[in-house]
Amino acid sequence: MRDETKCLHSGYSPKDTEPGALPIVQSTTYVYDSTEEMGSVFDEPTKSLIYSRFANPTVMAVERKIADLEGGIGAMCTSSGQAATLISLLNLCKSGDSFISTSQIYGGSVNLFAVTLKKLGIECVFVSSDASADEINAAFKPNTKAVFGETVANSALTVLDIEKFADIAHSHHVPLIIDNTFPTPILCKPIEFGADIIVHSTSKYMDGHALQVGGVIVDSGGFDWSAGDFPGITEPDMSYRGIRYTDVYGKSAYIVKARMQLMRDFGVYPSANSAFLLNLGLETLAIRMERYCDNAMKVAKYLIGAPKIERVIYPGLETDKYYPLARKYLKGASGVIALVMKGGKDSAVRFLDSLKLASNETHVADIRTCVLHPATTTHRQLTEEQLKAADLDPGLIRLSVGLEHVDDIIEDIEQALDAL
Ligand SMILES: *Cc1c(COP(=O)(O)O)cnc(C)c1O
Repeated sequence: MRDETKCLHSGYSPKDTEPGALPIVQSTTYVYDSTEEMGSVFDEPTKSLIYSRFANPTVMAVERKIADLEGGIGAMCTSSGQAATLISLLNLCKSGDSFISTSQIYGGSVNLFAVTLKKLGIECVFVSSDASADEINAAFKPNTKAVFGETVANSALTVLDIEKFADIAHSHHVPLIIDNTFPTPILCKPIEFGADIIVHSTSKYMDGHALQVGGVIVDSGGFDWSAGDFPGITEPDMSYRGIRYTDVYGKSAYIVKARMQLMRDFGVYPSANSAFLLNLGLETLAIRMERYCDNAMKVAKYLIGAPKIERVIYPGLETDKYYPLARKYLKGASGVIALVMKGGKDSAVRFLDSLKLASNETHVADIRTCVLHPATTTHRQLTEEQLKAADLDPGLIRLSVGLEHVDDIIEDIEQALDAL
């Protein structure tokens, strides 16, 4: 099936007289006739359902759909994008381990990696997404367990050279984890370029309607865990009768471990109702992404010629530094544009306050056009140095172009610029 078809048909295939729309299985529990049968599910939890802290039929249908869209063999939804990022790494790293991440990533991820994981004894070594192969190689240590990067960085809009990072990670026998939130699998499938694990904040384009926070981890099934040093996956898990995930679950070892061990213990699973809403967003994802790209391209071209704007960053523009990488990896540059106002922070704030149609909100990839000033909001916790490392100018505005008529979006920007 093609993506448009997967959006509508993957994950749930109703049989004779079953509901045509994905049903919401709003239940914490699943009943068994026999105690013995129920006991056997505790031995083999992937066989059936036990409890909605780590598996639910509505959520599982969405997991299959997203895995299908990304070209992975399995997926696990989480209650937020942050939870997906956290679990994707805790599934590989324990206290005393380290991993490498590009610095051009979501501000919340920077904080998680540099502050909170550090407190847990897991060290993150940051490298620029523009780093040379030598610089990336130099960041590896004997205890490095993963490399992490973002396809299109929120909010710097740098594009990652996925193939390069995958090749280097693999030469050190560690997986590449990619946050693919901005492109979604409609615009980029990082697994095709060598990525091993994909994470998303589904709160963005996937949900698409600004209705619920969520995340997902997708496993490509392609990484050879036994070739690296991953005892948590290849050695016996005493919390599951001493099974070895690679022996019992083969290519699905990583994603099964994430569910059976970490979701069981941390319990960051989404509700069935949230998954139902996420599924509605996914059904129109392919068609929405196309329009986001079209609208954003028109807005970016308008902004380039507009007065009072110093710089426009949109990897879809031929003049953009990341245009060559965008051409290689993306079918479209998605709907997010960054612009730097002449006059820095002050004129940025006045411009934002003059917009009438676009809303000023802590969100991105909304169905409605929205704007945000990262330096005073989402990236507020970062130091000047971290802001610089993340390529974020204090006068930078993140403009998330929505699905309104593009002329209305441009007219709104025009009147706000006139008001300056
Ligand atoms: C929003 C976002 C996150 C965090 O997701 P939440 O759903 O808000 O927890 C992670 N990565 C990227 C790229 C994001 O845009």
